[in-house]
Amino acid sequence: TRILEVEGLSARYGHVEALRPVDLHVEDGELIAILGPNGAGKSTLMNAIMGLVPTEGRVRFRGRDVPRRAPAEAAALGIVLVPEGRGIFAPMTVAENLELGAYLLSDKREFARRHERVLSMFPRLKERLTQTAGSLSGGEQQMLAVGRALMAEPKILLLDEPSLGLAPRVIEEILQTLGELNRQGLSIILVEQKAPLVLTLARRAYLLSVGTIAAEIDPRTIKSHD
Ligand code: ADP
Ligand code: ADP
Repeated sequence: TRILEVEGLSARYGHVEALRPVDLHVEDGELIAILGPNGAGKSTLMNAIMGLVPTEGRVRFRGRDVPRRAPAEAAALGIVLVPEGRGIFAPMTVAENLELGAYLLSDKREFARRHERVLSMFPRLKERLTQTAGSLSGGEQQMLAVGRALMAEPKILLLDEPSLGLAPRVIEEILQTLGELNRQGLSIILVEQKAPLVLTLARRAYLLSVGTIAAEIDPRTIKSHD
């Protein structure tokens, strides 16, 4: 069954048609990649799915229409985005950023359970709970961004270029954790510019080019040269 279905989704910024009608789907438990060069519309697509930009078309979550222009409702359904640039709050502590991820939750025991789970996935955050997010390394900030998203217990997690600006070793660590989460059943959309990064994770990828889906591919069939 499909956890997410996108039908004829388009978006524009003034006269710029950033997204032409796009169709895609994610099966329950699948990790798919969205690949494409800078400016292809990848961020716009993620923001459009969340309802963060004005769109035409439909987004369905487990068969139900996801209200447009209502990102809080998308989040409440279990669609959570780790935006490009991470979206964490630099002056706040790591602990406070994690708390924000679960702001809808009032059950303290459930909060503690999620908190512990996130820290076990990202042990590096554990020693830094009282530090400000801004004082973390880039890799740790990305881990915090993913950790904060996980505090909301998403059903499907969208990640917009989580590798951006990070060293290869940290990228690998983060991608491994995403693979682990996916094996535990989490559906994931992973946006990246470079196919080699998603080769071992995604069985299916959509190639985005000038705002439209140019192809659907198996990334493992791509020969990697870099
Ligand atoms: P990427 O291409 O990796 O998504 P960009 O540098 O294009 O990164 O975009 C960074 C931010 O700037 C995004 O929030 C995007 O929405 C915004 N942005 C990109 N292009 C424009 C533009 N032409 N005018 C205004 N904002 C833009
Ligand atoms: P990608 O994430 O693949 O780099 P984007 O979704 O950031 O692509 O951008 C797609 C197109 O929309 C680009 O031409 C970009 O310049 C334009 N764009 C993105 N954000 C804005 C914005 N806020 N205002 C105007 N144009 C934008």
